[in-house]
Amino acid sequence: MPPDPARRELAGIGIGRHAVAGPVVRMAPPLPEPPTTPGTENPDVALGRARSALTGVAETLRARGASAGGEATDVLDAQALMAEDPALDEAIAAGVGRGLSAARAVFEAFTGFREALAAAGPYLAERVADLDDVRQRAVAACLGVPVPGVPDPGHPYVLVARDLAPADTAGLDLTTVLALVTAEGGPTSHTAVLARSRGIPAVVGCAGAADLDDDTVVLVDPGASRVVVNPIAAEMPEPGATVRTVPIGPGRTADGVPIALLANIGGPADLPAAVAAGAEGVGLYRTELLFLDAATAPSAASQVEAYRDVFAAFPGGRVVVRVLDAGADKPLRFMAQEPEINPALGVRGLRALRRQPEILRTQLASISLAAQDTSADVWVMAPMVADVEETEWFLAEAAAHGLGTAGVMVEVPSAAMLADQIFEVAAFASIGTNDLAQYALAVDRQIGGLATLQDPWHPGLLRLIELIARAGRVAGRPVGVCGEAAADPMLARVLVGLGVTSLSMASPALADVRASLAEVTVAECQAAAARAVTARSAAEARARVCSVNA
Ligand code: PEP
Ligand code: MG
Repeated sequence: MPPDPARRELAGIGIGRHAVAGPVVRMAPPLPEPPTTPGTENPDVALGRARSALTGVAETLRARGASAGGEATDVLDAQALMAEDPALDEAIAAGVGRGLSAARAVFEAFTGFREALAAAGPYLAERVADLDDVRQRAVAACLGVPVPGVPDPGHPYVLVARDLAPADTAGLDLTTVLALVTAEGGPTSHTAVLARSRGIPAVVGCAGAADLDDDTVVLVDPGASRVVVNPIAAEMPEPGATVRTVPIGPGRTADGVPIALLANIGGPADLPAAVAAGAEGVGLYRTELLFLDAATAPSAASQVEAYRDVFAAFPGGRVVVRVLDAGADKPLRFMAQEPEINPALGVRGLRALRRQPEILRTQLASISLAAQDTSADVWVMAPMVADVEETEWFLAEAAAHGLGTAGVMVEVPSAAMLADQIFEVAAFASIGTNDLAQYALAVDRQIGGLATLQDPWHPGLLRLIELIARAGRVAGRPVGVCGEAAADPMLARVLVGLGVTSLSMASPALADVRASLAEVTVAECQAAAARAVTARSAAEARARVCSVNA
């Protein structure tokens, strides 16, 4: 039982609409490096402690491997062997002999192994992550503290963490995670992206989550952007209850105005989910995700294949291919630049492609070739465009490869301010609200802790979107949104009210956004937009729209 059974509510930023309840399991934070100060135990005691820690780790890993079965058995057995390596034991004995604490001696012994593995070539370098995991477990066991990282309580649970990095969730069995709650992180954080892409309800930026204890029952209610601690029986969701949905079909408002609902994808692997969710096409094909691990520029042949598969999945549908968006949060090794102090403001996106135009040309030629084989309506767009000169440069390159429907992403505030000029030449614009929020509000999208400013409900961001949509309407050009904002069912109404003509999102979000738009007329969307853009903060904008429309 939780120590305090009193019901209370914690505010945050909700992702998704379905409310779920379950017991909290906290993700323990990473351990700090053990200090180098001499240990207080005598060396024999320290060595005994280190050895029993490693034996315990090996036993736990083997037991887990045996119960998991399949490939996991081999992986976990291999990790157990790492913990039992005699050379590791020797290094630890030498460390405690030099006066180090058990935890520090274990840490240093693993560090030596780690460096040797990392230097031994790419195959063994992949084992470094496994070794780091064993090290964390062994150090935690020496210190008698919980093992950091991914919990595995053996029952469905609500995962509570400070924030989640991709590495934290790589080994997470999401089938038993009912919901995610993070104290930090905003609507574009990794947690939010993960929650949307897996269809897991989440509340992020929930400062009060830091004080939640394991096993406390919480109701995670993303629709109301809150977490209810110790909910009363009457508010618990009925087992198997779902929110209203509408049949799969083209997106439209209650008065029948079509709003194309498209999928964000990173490659052919994302197609089954997009097609199953009824995506009308692809609004953002993040092609750089295909090549994140490539050491050399991808060949035309490998690109043609990856593009052709996607085009083939949407005969007659729109597929918007974004050319490589390298840099900052999406570094590509083969386009590496000189190190930059602030990569988000550096040579990224179109700026990087202009420095290496042969890479862009190979990509455009590949897209063009793949497009010839399908009936998909292929559009291309450039990331991180700042003005009409950059737009024209990209359009000329696209035209030279026979790609007539070419446009830009609006992610830089300058491009929003100059949207009227851009629409004189570009066929369309797609608003990347993740980066547009980052640059408009001067908040790094990769850091947690500034959630109120990373919030796409911010009226400063909404007014920029209004400017772009208005310029698009005047010029008769389509304006889409392909940032995370499009995946928020209530914000989707506001975007439509501002004049946006298509919404592109992670596939699991399509059903909720489709249902949300089907409930309101365009006039109601416009009224919601008017309330949101005149709010004084993101929280006020959200409250004004969600409380009226709820
Ligand atoms: C964006 O910035 O909103 C966007 C859609 O692009 P990415 O998230 O890939 O930078
Ligand atoms: Mg972007």
